Amino acid sequence: MAVISVRNVHKHYKRVLAVKGVGFDVEQGTCLGFLGPNGAGKSTLMKMLYGRCRPDSTPEYSINLFGHEPNRDELAIKHFSGVVPQDNNLDEELNVRQNLMVYARFYGMSRHRAQARIDELLAFMELPEKASEKIKQLSGGMNRRLVIARALLNSPRLLILDEPTTGLDPQVRHLIWDRLRRLKKQGTTILLTTHYMEEAFRLCDNLLIMHEGQKIMEGAPRALIKANIEAFVFEPMGNETVFSSPDRPLPPSVRREECLGVTRYFSDTLEDLKSLCDHVEDGQYHLRHSNLEDVFLKTTGRVLSDKQ
Ligand code: ADP
Repeated sequence: MAVISVRNVHKHYKRVLAVKGVGFDVEQGTCLGFLGPNGAGKSTLMKMLYGRCRPDSTPEYSINLFGHEPNRDELAIKHFSGVVPQDNNLDEELNVRQNLMVYARFYGMSRHRAQARIDELLAFMELPEKASEKIKQLSGGMNRRLVIARALLNSPRLLILDEPTTGLDPQVRHLIWDRLRRLKKQGTTILLTTHYMEEAFRLCDNLLIMHEGQKIMEGAPRALIKANIEAFVFEPMGNETVFSSPDRPLPPSVRREECLGVTRYFSDTLEDLKSLCDHVEDGQYHLRHSNLEDVFLKTTGRVLSDKQ
């Protein structure tokens, strides 16, 4: 059963239509990812859910989070949600523990209970020895882990993360992914925005791919690929015209696609793509499984992710 249900939301910022009629459902204990390039409308959509931004008041829209509507029950939603915004917004005058304590008090925790919960969360995010450090002394990855710890203070049923790992090194990224998977196993419902395909793949049960404010695709990551593109892709590096001459026709199963100056060859038959490899010198090619970026390129002609 869906615990989050969104129907037909729009958002204008003056003349920019940032979100255009998006809707989706989320089941409890699952992770829904919003994937798309910068400016696609992902953050705006998130902000509408946790009450940081009001949707346009079109008659037919609705947002329901665990039985509550952001317009009417903002405080109730705050109490069962944890939010990790795109910017870390920590108080630089305070140390790590103090930053968490301010929030704990906001949630009405007693000092004693807050101390215990803070210790628990610092351990969970592998920051226990940093409790007395000032924010400026923390690395980017530590800052991010602290913001996630802060979002978990009230043991939220719903965790909303706006680009949780952008700009972080792979080690920290993996740690965060592991913690998010653990939370999901414990029943936490997660919404996250990302422009990293790998993140979307590893964490999300369902994905909503956005482009220019619209939902262009929705489904489980693997299912999206299976339904929208051939299984394998061959990418020669700089030698692509060799396959276009009439005396060297492509195998019938192979589809050629040119996008942003790169030519790719797609097929469900790996052998057919392997036969192309022989014509490329010095192993200057990639032969791989298709991924979400390929689906996105096929659909929009645009690049989906910043490459890691
Ligand atoms: P994403 O999170 O996918 O990068 P955003 O939701 O931040 O996308 O932005 C969607 C569109 O709305 C962009 O064109 C952006 O410039 C615009 N936008 C976002 N926030 C504001 C704002 N506060 N005022 C005006 N325009 C905004």
